[in-house]
Order: sequence, then C-alpha cells, then structure tokens
Amino acid sequence: MKVVIALGGNAFNKPGEPINQDAHLKNIEAAAKIIQRIVQEGHQVVVTHGNGPQVGYFAELQRDSQAFKLDAINALTQGLLGYLIVSALDKALGRGRSAALVTRVEVDCSDPAFKTPTKYIGPIYSEEEAKKLGVMYGWQFKQDPRGGWRRVVPSPTPLRIVEIDIIKRLADAGYVVVAAGGGGIPVCENTGVEGVVDKDLASSLLAIEWKADLLIILTDVDGVYLNFKKPGQRKLDAVRVDELEKYYAEGHFPPGSMGPKVLAAINFIRNGGKRAAIGALEEGYEVFKGVRGTQIIP
Ligand code: ADP
Ligand code: MG
Repeated sequence: MKVVIALGGNAFNKPGEPINQDAHLKNIEAAAKIIQRIVQEGHQVVVTHGNGPQVGYFAELQRDSQAFKLDAINALTQGLLGYLIVSALDKALGRGRSAALVTRVEVDCSDPAFKTPTKYIGPIYSEEEAKKLGVMYGWQFKQDPRGGWRRVVPSPTPLRIVEIDIIKRLADAGYVVVAAGGGGIPVCENTGVEGVVDKDLASSLLAIEWKADLLIILTDVDGVYLNFKKPGQRKLDAVRVDELEKYYAEGHFPPGSMGPKVLAAINFIRNGGKRAAIGALEEGYEVFKGVRGTQIIP
C-alpha cells in the first residue's frame, strides 16, 4: 500500500522541552521505529512533518536582521528536520533507504489568507511583549487558545506539489521520502512567498496527487473528539466521511489544530483515498493498522 504519514510537532518536541537537536533526535527516533515497522511490511511510505516551532525559532533568531524571509526559513527547517528524520531512519532501516526532499507547493497569489494571518509560529508571549514586538517588527499576534500570545502568519491553501513527480518516482521505487516538510515552501508563479502552509492540508494534497491508499496523521491526541474539552465530549473511533463533514460544519474542530487535520482527511477521502486516520504518535502503528485513533472511511 501507498501510505502518507504526517508527523505533528510532538514528533520533535514534547511540551516543555527546549528546541534543540538532542531532544528532536530522541523524539524522532521513536517515530522512526513506527515508520520502520510499516516499511518492513512492504509498504511505500512518504513522511511529511510540521515545522511551526522551528520556523518561529529561526524567525526569532534573525528578527533584527530579517536576513531571510519566511519561505527561505521554511526551506531551512525542511533541510534541518529532514536531516534529523533520515538520520533516525538510517538507524531504523539501514542507510540508503530514505531521502529528504526540499519541497515547494504552489499557492494562489491572491489567496485571501495573505490578508488574514492565522498560522501560529514561534514561542508564546505575554500580551505586553506581543504588542511591543508587533510594533517593532510589523509582526501580527493572536491569542493562542492554548494560552498566551503567538505570532501569526498567512497560511495559503496548497494547490499543487511542485516536486510531485520526483516524490512519486522515489516512493514508488521503495525509498522512504521525507517531503512537504512544514507544509512545503509556498510559491506563486515560481516565486517564494511569505507564509506557512498547513502541513496537514499539504500532506493530504500530496496523498491525493500520489494516489496514496492511506493518509495517517499522527499528533499528540489519541483521536478526533466531538465537544472536545466540553460537556458531552466523545471520541470518534470510526466515522464515515459524510458524518465527519457534518461535524466539521458544526464547528467541532478549531482552525490551526484539529480543523485542518479533519479537513485533510475529508479532502483525501473525497478524492479517492481508501482510509484516513488521525491519532496519537505513540500509537502510530496501531493507528496505521486501523485499531486506534479515529478512522475515517468513504
Ligand atoms: P500537530 O502539531 O500534531 O499538528 P496541533 O496542536 O496542531 O498538533 O493539533 C492537535 C491538537 O488539537 C490537540 O493537542 C488538541 O488539543 C487539539 N484539538 C482541538 N480540537 C480537538 C478535537 N475536536 N479533537 C481532538 N483534539 C482537538
Ligand atoms: Mg498543527
């Protein structure tokens, strides 16, 4: 089977851990063991990953110089995180079985997202600090539902994976390809633009364009919930796409966290995917097997 595995932020960083190489490597080695089990069953695998904290980290580091724009910082994190993932995959699978590909995604130059930034990047600030930085650097901040204030940047809709043919060839030949990291570098008319594409939507697009069988989205929660953290909270174990569309329209899944994951799953199934699943990284293999997480079917 052709499987796209999307790794969330917790594949690199657990809550409270600092952003650094050792922590990232330790975490990604655990994720690589899950990928190893799937690959060793003979499946073709493309791995995608998020990069919100890392993009924010490097944007912060060079906030005075602003030497590189977000598209370039995105590329930087693809190289960095891609390198760490293939290092971990080398240990799990042996050398020469995987490669990370700097990936661009085509977006619409007039996507309304450029006018309304929604994607959180970087650290959490107090309201006071956020206001100060906003004035100093022209950054926009929003209150994060998880607490504090964070920088927000535009998150345009991905329309096409620029390197899709190359990814397909490598993946179909049995290499594990790490691609579309951080949602891919957004480009319109072959020029990079300032924004961070949602990694779940880009993963779904990649899965559709590759004609994958499965889209597995691994995150820090064990599935998709209705009335999340409210009275009447209920986990969805298996759900048909039309039911999930109804729940999505009812507003159970907020933008910037569970919303894009659910939308990614819906898009994938509506475009020929056989099964999508959303679940905890720790249970990644079981989520892949269909016995944990939330399973979304046609
Ligand atoms: P990732 O880095 O893996 O993309 P996100 O933080 O973007 O992770 O999204 C996962 C988070 O979504 C969970 O930690 C959870 O707090 C939040 N969430 C919001 N609504 C829901 C919901 N309805 N069901 C499950 N989780 C939800
Ligand atoms: Mg996310």
